[in-house]
Amino acid sequence: MTTTAPRRRALVIGGSIGGLFAAHALHRHGWDVQVFERSAAELSGRGAGIVTHPQLWQALAHIGLDPADRLGVPVARRVTFARDGRVIGSRPFPQVTTSWDLVFRQLRAAWPDDRYALGRSLVDVTQDDTGISARFADGTCVTGDVLIGADGLRSSVRQAVVGDVASTYAGYVAWRGLVAERDVPAAAHSDIFDVFGFCLPPGEQFLGYPVAGPGDDLRRGHRQYNFVWYRPADEATELPRLLRDATGHVHTVSIPPPLIRDAIIDEMRAAAEAILAPQCAALVAATPRPFLQPIYDLESPRLAVGRAALIGDAAFVVRPHPGAGVTKAAEDAITLAALLDGTDDVPAALVRFAARRQPAGARMIERARHLGAYLQAQRRTEAERAAAERHRTPEAVMAETATLDF
Ligand SMILES: Cc1cc2nc3c(=O)[nH]c(=O)nc-3n(C[C@H](O)[C@H](O)[C@H](O)COP(=O)(O)OP(=O)(O)OC[C@H]3O[C@@H](n4cnc5c(N)ncnc54)[C@H](O)[C@@H]3O)c2cc1C
Repeated sequence: MTTTAPRRRALVIGGSIGGLFAAHALHRHGWDVQVFERSAAELSGRGAGIVTHPQLWQALAHIGLDPADRLGVPVARRVTFARDGRVIGSRPFPQVTTSWDLVFRQLRAAWPDDRYALGRSLVDVTQDDTGISARFADGTCVTGDVLIGADGLRSSVRQAVVGDVASTYAGYVAWRGLVAERDVPAAAHSDIFDVFGFCLPPGEQFLGYPVAGPGDDLRRGHRQYNFVWYRPADEATELPRLLRDATGHVHTVSIPPPLIRDAIIDEMRAAAEAILAPQCAALVAATPRPFLQPIYDLESPRLAVGRAALIGDAAFVVRPHPGAGVTKAAEDAITLAALLDGTDDVPAALVRFAARRQPAGARMIERARHLGAYLQAQRRTEAERAAAERHRTPEAVMAETATLDF
């Protein structure tokens, strides 16, 4: 680690997983770091299940966190169930599954409160040769040597330094849910609870895995099962119908879970009974409040502008199939901090960061597009049609989902 005097100041915008990885990594390289998060309340309960990759463990170790056996639930096999519940595919695939909350809390607990400001929503960024300033909605302004945009899909930092970047709807949505282990019927529990389970109705994909229960509880009987069910939804007709709340308002990008109409949830549960394996339908039936996530791709054309850099979902939003949102954000953060180590030329370091992480993000976007092509309501190109054929079989889906080995 290189420490300079006076210490250089990093402003991290966004206090979720990407922002906290950046904060920890920069701190370890001697930076004075302050995190600014828009939410007025501590973040929690935001995500659901996530899978871990060796790269995530390495990233946690790199910033000095050793989650040992506290990171999640070890799962040994992947199993695909047919509509009638028969096992039509099975392969060993050891992996640790975890939850957004568990990863976030480990990062947050190890970061000092006086370096983490809640209720600070960035509205503008200005910079010159000597520094970079962030202005917030409450009228305050701070200045630093580098500014990290870790503020997610609708990044204000990206808007300020790069401009408009459109997200592209992928042509399908994900129904997601978490079921308490004690609520899973015994027959379904014995077949699916301890495996990474799949069911592949035509043009659709259901998958799920066990994760920690409330309070990061990893004890048997106290865990939860996380599921994701991808379903095609035409952008012009079906998507607005799904995103319309009880007042008639059609939400854009996503709909807050409490506003999803009961009729839409009832319809989805009926479809689960009709087309999913009984083990999977039982999980859907036992989920108190499933939520809906339209799937988007977003690729920022630039990751660095002067003293501002974009990481995590602010830089790229990758479809969930590689299960890599958290791992990619961690790798962005660690690469950035390493390149900023000991240099006085911040803009040059950020150019090097972009040169490394732009191709990595583009590769992941492309891979995720291929894996999801067979779920799209419409396949627009010949390449999408070819990918749809290649990645749709149970063997391919089990081998290729939630892995970075490609
Ligand atoms: C609600 C939600 C649920 C998710 N669930 C999962 C999951 O189950 N599995 C998985 O693998 N990934 C999930 N993700 C994605 C995963 O969290 C991200 O890929 C990963 O954490 C990297 O995200 P990030 O930190 O870059 O951005 P995000 O997690 O989106 O965080 C961005 C942060 O920036 C803050 N922010 C936004 N605008 C401003 C502003 N103007 N000023 C200050 N702060 C701002 C936001 O409040 C937010 O806390 C989820 C993300 C969200 C938002």
